[in-house]
Amino acid sequence: MIYHPETYRIKDKRMQPFIDPDEIWDYINQKKPDKQKVRDVIQASLNKKRLSLEETAVLINADDPDLIEEIKEGARSLKENVYGERIVLFAPLYVGDLCTNNCQYCGFRSTNKDVKRITLTSDELVNETRALIDQGHKRLILVYGEHPKYSAEFIAETVRIVYGVKYSNGEIRRLNINAAPFDIPGFRTIKDAGIGTFQIFQETYHEPTYAKVHLGGVKRNYEWRLTALDRAQEAGIDDVGIGALFGLYDWRFEVLGLVRHVNHFEAVYNVGPHTISFPRIQNALSLNISKENLVKDDEFVRLVSILRLAVPYTGMILTAREPAEIRDQILRFGVSQIDGGTNLELGGYSKGKNEVQDLSMEQFQINDNRSLNEIMDELIKSGYIPSFCTACYRLGRTGEHFMEFSVPGFIKRFCSPNALLTLAEYLEDYAPAETKAAGYKLIEEKTHALKNTQNVDALKEKIQLVKDGKRDLYF
Ligand code: SAM
Ligand code: SF4
Repeated sequence: MIYHPETYRIKDKRMQPFIDPDEIWDYINQKKPDKQKVRDVIQASLNKKRLSLEETAVLINADDPDLIEEIKEGARSLKENVYGERIVLFAPLYVGDLCTNNCQYCGFRSTNKDVKRITLTSDELVNETRALIDQGHKRLILVYGEHPKYSAEFIAETVRIVYGVKYSNGEIRRLNINAAPFDIPGFRTIKDAGIGTFQIFQETYHEPTYAKVHLGGVKRNYEWRLTALDRAQEAGIDDVGIGALFGLYDWRFEVLGLVRHVNHFEAVYNVGPHTISFPRIQNALSLNISKENLVKDDEFVRLVSILRLAVPYTGMILTAREPAEIRDQILRFGVSQIDGGTNLELGGYSKGKNEVQDLSMEQFQINDNRSLNEIMDELIKSGYIPSFCTACYRLGRTGEHFMEFSVPGFIKRFCSPNALLTLAEYLEDYAPAETKAAGYKLIEEKTHALKNTQNVDALKEKIQLVKDGKRDLYF
């Protein structure tokens, strides 16, 4: 089937009614739930059941301070019991900021004349990749504006270039993408280059607000965007990431929109999205957005806890848009991936750390500019296992989150040992002495904690091999 982005309308019956605003508002407008109801919903989630819209709305409507605490506590224990202590690390790499869209929240929008429009050349892309490998990264997300120049073939070529870079002991082992929606053949071209997750954020699930903030370009078509990841699935990309930009509309509506999107994928494709992102609007060059729906810190912590409980099988990503204090707090509620050493400037990684951002070359302001190693130090100190693992993706174990929960013992047998092996690689190749000492102490403790599983001896052997110079070992 040929799709026309400008005039696209949902015709496929499987997608209807996918987002029904009246249904969402009916749930939000239900009367306040009693304590027992809220506790029942939290318990259902702790039993690893994905919550329905109605159940999620119960959590949204529970606004007594002690119930909010119980929800946060529930999210905390779900995170501990289900996800364990691993935190996956990645970095964004902006490839180009040309854009034909006019999104009012974004520094790259077409009407923003003060933006320097840059597309990295192949050589610049190689240099950026080297600089990221040099920090210790193994997983990147490539980011692009929406522009005819950034065709599927162009994106596929940039993916091949980045995968092709080998530098001292390192290389990038998994590339995810955040780019504009494509048609099915376009998604197929990009998939064939070997990508991991394709992320597309709906920004807002509320169509009238969507129309208000997207004033030009293909992105104006709400349905083309809403169904984008369905086309990705049809093209064989079963690893997709959804997201909403919090601050455009009522956060309660967006949370239910995200949960509805997850239900849709599970119903139609039998697999939910791999990740959910929940960026909050940050300052950007000539930002042009109403402040009415901006999400306060306490609401943000609350909404992340609710999302954690609502979709226990979905990975959650928290980026450097948020300041370190909020990131540290929210890590406890179930975030599974964070970026580190982030630099949004086009070509910025090879220039080195920028203390002050230049918003004429960056999409928005970030609030956590710690280096990757500073973040590693914090994680290690707090007892988390920083992970650069890419084993499932490379062994073709897609839908890995599902596997983590559904295959008994999978986390202990595979995820934790693999996280420790990638940590050992980092310590050998990139860490200063203090990080190395603290990191190996953590490896020892966590290896000991795995002693009742069959892998400990094999794990110790592999860690020794890493120390001896072998790389890229996994279970
Ligand atoms: N051009 C692609 C698109 O629109 O899908 C790539 C998107 S952009 C590079 C990645 C995400 O950043 C957007 O989907 C949006 O949610 C988010 N974003 C844009 N402006 C932002 C801002 N001012 N603050 C925080 N996040 C922002
Ligand atoms: Fe372009 Fe994406 Fe920014 Fe919109 S959010 S202006 S599509 S880069």
